[in-house]
Order: sequence, then structure tokens, then C-alpha cells
Amino acid sequence: MSDKKANAAVSRRKFIAAAGGTAALGASAAAAPRAARAAGTAHKPHYGMLIDLRRCIGCHACSVSCKAEFDVPLGATRSWVEYIEKGDYPDVSRQFLPRLCNHCSKPQCVDVCPTGATWKREEDGIVVVDADICIGCKYCILACPYDARFTNPITGTADKCDFCQHRVSQGLVPSCVNACIGEARIFGDLNDPQSEISKLIARNPVTVLRQEMGTEPNVFYIDADHTDPNGATNNGQYVRVDTHRQHAERR
Ligand code: SF4
Ligand code: SF4
Ligand code: SF4
Repeated sequence: MSDKKANAAVSRRKFIAAAGGTAALGASAAAAPRAARAAGTAHKPHYGMLIDLRRCIGCHACSVSCKAEFDVPLGATRSWVEYIEKGDYPDVSRQFLPRLCNHCSKPQCVDVCPTGATWKREEDGIVVVDADICIGCKYCILACPYDARFTNPITGTADKCDFCQHRVSQGLVPSCVNACIGEARIFGDLNDPQSEISKLIARNPVTVLRQEMGTEPNVFYIDADHTDPNGATNNGQYVRVDTHRQHAERR
């Protein structure tokens, strides 16, 4: 097992070992809340995800596990993988881009909701939807610059990734992270400088989707190809983005 794989496996075990607590991510991470309590302030996690495209093989295990976890109706997806194909033969390339809600720090979806049915949780930064309050007006779906939301055809309410809050609250990683055979997905506390995700972000150049939108996404990518078929970055070459979603094209 490579050092990186070993580290990822250890980290995953540490996260699971933290079951019952909501913030701890291993020994060094546990020290941070203790220090915060000693200083009179409780440590609040701010969860995020890092997706390392050097390790992603486009297998869709993440999308499938998400479907199973939430019984997501046919034709809808909370988590999906895009294929980005570009170039002219023989100079062609194909890369994968796993997608989900970015749990933005400045979520436009929250700003437009007329009922308060969607919000960013203060306790951990997860952006959630309360289906009991949602009236299905779709404002949030239109406002999200990432096409991360959809109307659940069964409930008629807004739906999207919630970082598997039911698993995270039990000390588990989200289902997509658990299923990722490439160990390309790292989930953790961005507020803890000792967490694996914080260390990887500090050590590697990372990008977010559509930074220009000012939403401050909390899903980060290593080595991602952000080429947009409609954008200025395609340099006139052939580009095709297949989203495998209900919408034909990426927004
Ligand atoms: S990705 Fe979209 S749905 Fe998710 S928090 Fe950001 S604006 Fe809201
Ligand atoms: S669809 Fe629901 S969550 Fe979205 S803006 Fe309307 S009420 Fe709020
Ligand atoms: S499960 Fe992991 S390796 Fe497979 S497509 Fe998803 S992110 Fe990539």
C-alpha cells in the first residue's frame, strides 16, 4: 500500500473511531476542541470535501452509493460525475469531474429562499433543506450557479447533497467518500488545521468551481480540468462535457 493510500486508510479509520462525537477527526484533531474549550470557545467544525482528480478513475461508485443512501428517484442525482472530453485526434484527453453541492460559505440558494427552508448550519457549515418547510418554488434551484439542486419528483420539494449529515453526526464519512475506490474524496473539518483535508489543501494547489460567482465553495479539487464548452478556456478546440444528469448541459 502506498504512503498516500495508507494515510487515507488511517484517516478514514480515525474518522470512524470518532463516532459519537461530532467534531473530532483523530488524535491531533481532538486536541483542537480541547484547546478551544480551555480558551473558553467551543470548536465548531466547518465541513468540506477535497476531490483529488489524480486518483479519480470515473467509476461512478460515488454516484451509485449516493443514490442508494438516499433512494434518489430515477432521473435525479445528488452526486454525479462529469466527463470532459477535448482536443482533436490524435491530441485528445478525457478527465472526470465528480460534482455535488459545494456547501458554499455564501450560498445564493439560501439568500433567495422565501420560507427559510434552506440554510447553512452554524454548527458545521452543512447547507441543508427542510422538506417540511419547503414549498417547492424552485427559487433556490435557479439561484444555484452549480446546478446542484433539483426538485424531488416524489416529494415536490428541493433536494440536493447534504454531506450525509445523518452519517457525519454518527462519526462516519459521507457515503460517496466511503465508496470511492480511488480514495479520491477526502471529507473533513476545514476549521481544524490538523485534519487531513486541511493539510492536503495547504500542501497542494486547489481550485473550486466557478470561483467568479463569489459563493465561496467548500468542495475543493486537485488537478481538476475546469474547461467549459461555452467558456473562454476552450481555445477553440473540440470540448464535450457529458453530465449524466437530467440536464443536457452543464450550467
Ligand atoms: S452549490 Fe448551490 S445548492 Fe450548494 S450551497 Fe452552493 S449555491 Fe447552494
Ligand atoms: S424550493 Fe424550497 S428550499 Fe428552494 S427556495 Fe423554494 S421554499 Fe426554499
Ligand atoms: S468513486 Fe471516487 S474514483 Fe470513482 S468516480 Fe467517484 S470520485 Fe472518482
